[in-house]
Amino acid sequence: MSIEELYSEIILDHCKRPRNYGVLPDATVVVRGENASCGDDIQVSMKLSPDRIEDIRFTGHGCAICMASASLMSIKLKNSDRTAAGKLISAFRKMLTEESEPDPAIGDLQIFSMVSRFPQRVKCATLAWHAAASGLAETPSPTVSTD
Ligand code: ZN
Repeated sequence: MSIEELYSEIILDHCKRPRNYGVLPDATVVVRGENASCGDDIQVSMKLSPDRIEDIRFTGHGCAICMASASLMSIKLKNSDRTAAGKLISAFRKMLTEESEPDPAIGDLQIFSMVSRFPQRVKCATLAWHAAASGLAETPSPTVSTD
């Protein structure tokens, strides 16, 4: 299977059946992410303990890339160490915005490196990750924007 086929398959799968979709009733932080240029509008809720992301869910609507990226992110960040999560978030964003080789921590998220070929879609892929980063940093503003 080529990377293009793998990419389409994973995007479609997560878009049809997003994982960890819904509202987290005991969330400690909720961050909304909007990407006006595409119409993506999602909300990431996390239950944070001092050193871990205990749980994470997302809701909202967006294009296939946005939804698939949020779904995969929720799998990767759920029950993860906050430091490791922060590193993964910056590695993911870096992969899409810089020409460098992806960090090994990226693993199968590497299929999203395809998105860097379409600069206008980079915001779609990074929206959920920006929201999670903002939640981790406990940014006072509940809304982040990639514009
Ligand atoms: Zn989008």
